[in-house]
Amino acid sequence: MTAGDKPKSHGRLSISASVQPRDLMAPQRVKGAWAARIITLFPEAFPGTLGLSLTGKALAEGLWSLQTIDLRPFGIGKHRNVDDSPAGGGAGMVLRADVVAAALDEAAIATPPDRALWPVVYLSPRGKPFDQATARRWAGADGITMLCGRFEGVDQRVLDHYAVEEVSLGDFVLTGGEIAAQAMIDAAVRLLPGVLGNASSTEEESHSHGLLEHPQYTRPATWEGRDIPAVLTSGNHAAVEKWRRAEAERLTRERRPDLWARRPKP
Ligand code: SAH
Repeated sequence: MTAGDKPKSHGRLSISASVQPRDLMAPQRVKGAWAARIITLFPEAFPGTLGLSLTGKALAEGLWSLQTIDLRPFGIGKHRNVDDSPAGGGAGMVLRADVVAAALDEAAIATPPDRALWPVVYLSPRGKPFDQATARRWAGADGITMLCGRFEGVDQRVLDHYAVEEVSLGDFVLTGGEIAAQAMIDAAVRLLPGVLGNASSTEEESHSHGLLEHPQYTRPATWEGRDIPAVLTSGNHAAVEKWRRAEAERLTRERRPDLWARRPKP
């Protein structure tokens, strides 16, 4: 470690270590498991919702691993300053290139330099909008490094120098990258083998074939005077499939004309 504190790990590394777990959390990966490394000023935000339910269970089982790298110890001087005022003036503060670079170097230890095998991502409202195809691409890599911005963002030079991919959660502005990182990791992790009990559920859901999913129903059969569409309880599988396809197409046409126009045509 170059800057004090060790990165914090979640998942198999931290629960299987018997004596001094912190010492075993050096920048190494659970062998074979997909790994996320998150550079953040707020490591305590992780695993957050990723520690719950299916992603949390998969984390505990070592199907993927999560390591936070605290940006603060890389800061400058007694106060470990990580930011400074924007060149050219204006409001707010910008994360310094040298500070962020030191954290990125730390995150790069023992990872493949090929960005296709290990994407290095900056969460940013100026980035390419995140989508299911990006989640699939990332899930197919060995792991990922994510840089969570704060304040006005990050010095551009460090993004250029490290060939960082800028990705946005959507056309709105968050106060930091941590929520975006969790959302994107969730989307990628649920595509890893073994994370969802029923593998076919990632093939049929919204966005997997360029369509939104059909509506879902469950018991009771009648609720507040509303019945489940009769076809779904008919036992006729072909009719169910046809209805679901028609509903998926209707919803996509009505709600997302952009997706409808781009849908893969048979
Ligand atoms: N001044 C910047 C916004 C900074 S918001 C601009 O106008 O582009 C502070 C941090 O929150 C960013 O550095 C980024 O990491 C994160 N963030 C904000 N909105 C985001 C979004 N839509 N997607 C992903 N990350 C976002």
